[in-house]
Amino acid sequence: MTVSVSARSDELRARVEAFMNEHVYPAEEIYNTHIDTAADRWTIPPIMEELKEKAKAEGLWNLFLAEFDQYGSGLSNQEYAPLSETMGRSLIGSEAFNCSAPDTGNMEVLARYGTDAQKEEWLLPLLEGKIRSAFAMTEPAVASSDATNIQTEIKRDGGDYIINGHKWWISGAPDPRCKIMIVMGKTDPNAPRHQQQSQILVPKDTPGVTIVRPMKVFGSDDAPHGHAEVRLDNVRVPASNLIGEEGSGFAIAQGRLGPGRIHHCMRLIGCAQRALEMMCQRVESRVAFGKKISEQGSIREDIAKSSCDIDQARLLTLKAAEKMDNGTYKDAKDIIAQIKIVAPSMAQTVIDRAIQAHGAMGLSQDTFLAEAFAYARTVRFADGPDQVHMNSLGKQLIQRYAG
Ligand SMILES: Cc1cc2nc3c(=O)[nH]c(=O)nc-3n(C[C@H](O)[C@H](O)[C@H](O)COP(=O)(O)OP(=O)(O)OC[C@H]3O[C@@H](n4cnc5c(N)ncnc54)[C@H](O)[C@@H]3O)c2cc1C
Repeated sequence: MTVSVSARSDELRARVEAFMNEHVYPAEEIYNTHIDTAADRWTIPPIMEELKEKAKAEGLWNLFLAEFDQYGSGLSNQEYAPLSETMGRSLIGSEAFNCSAPDTGNMEVLARYGTDAQKEEWLLPLLEGKIRSAFAMTEPAVASSDATNIQTEIKRDGGDYIINGHKWWISGAPDPRCKIMIVMGKTDPNAPRHQQQSQILVPKDTPGVTIVRPMKVFGSDDAPHGHAEVRLDNVRVPASNLIGEEGSGFAIAQGRLGPGRIHHCMRLIGCAQRALEMMCQRVESRVAFGKKISEQGSIREDIAKSSCDIDQARLLTLKAAEKMDNGTYKDAKDIIAQIKIVAPSMAQTVIDRAIQAHGAMGLSQDTFLAEAFAYARTVRFADGPDQVHMNSLGKQLIQRYAG
């Protein structure tokens, strides 16, 4: 189902779709071959930089960012959502348009809360696609779905802050282009619970920052982007690297998560839609036990259910985007929780059905399905686990209807 949001969104979606067909899908194999065969897996396939140059030249660049000087696309969340879905059909799509996580969230934070100097030093090169970034919150020692648990210490020392902590699952930190991390830690452990945290800019090459190892998702290190375990030992940065005020880290993190969750959900809807189309094509082209696999009732059922699941998730996500556009994050909180519960699980289920229909090939490196499945499974954790959203949404609803 294609939903028309506005004329400019439709026009941009058609251009993004044409770009995907002409450049991104043909580049997938080249990209993957580079990672499989390069002497160093943690180098960037040159094809990615070529894609970025082409997208930039066509003006299909930074479309996620509503407003920021000449860089903003001026699109609302609702208008951007179908573009995010279209880019999400390929696992290298969003990056080609400079619209991939975690840079999008980090750029939004810098655009909204950064000082002029922070914008000049970090936001501009990110917007130009010259560097990449990471967001470092999760820690092995504590249940990090509760951000108030974070233990990393950010301590004032004259004109500097000194940071000590241990992080893991920091997406993009192993990427050689990653130059800056936004680190979440505590500046005042004695302040009220949601005012203890702050966010601070830490250049990756600061002494005391150690990339310990890339974590593996289902056995894959996700090179050349990756998700690192990171140690921060007496890392000293100037006090001017703090984002916003001391104690504002939790509130900044909340603000970042609204659009970020919508983007992730729309990308996953794109993955699921592509998986559905691949499933149809595969079962129509294979014969088992004397008839096409597409003639099996159970397969048709999987296909029908998948299309219903995808359309339901798409409409809910668009509704969440509309709610965000017409109010604050707080107004949209419940429906954002709903999409975070619905979309990643839906994508995981649809992609799993497509894997089944492909037979063993579905688990291999020869289609995007296995990686897309891992991505959907990951997003059930990232930016707040779905069970945490179920818990808070359930609580809200009980209060609303029985409180
Ligand atoms: C591939 C990948 C990339 C990631 N990228 C990043 C990144 O770039 N930066 C970053 O900081 N983090 C990142 N993360 C980490 C992710 O955000 C955390 O895994 C997530 O916040 C959960 O924290 P935790 O792993 O400590 O789980 P825990 O907090 O230990 O929770 C474990 C489980 O307990 C359950 N649970 C917890 N609280 C509740 C509740 N209130 N109600 C019901 N159930 C509950 C949930 O099922 C939850 O999944 C990434 C993770 C993965 C897998």
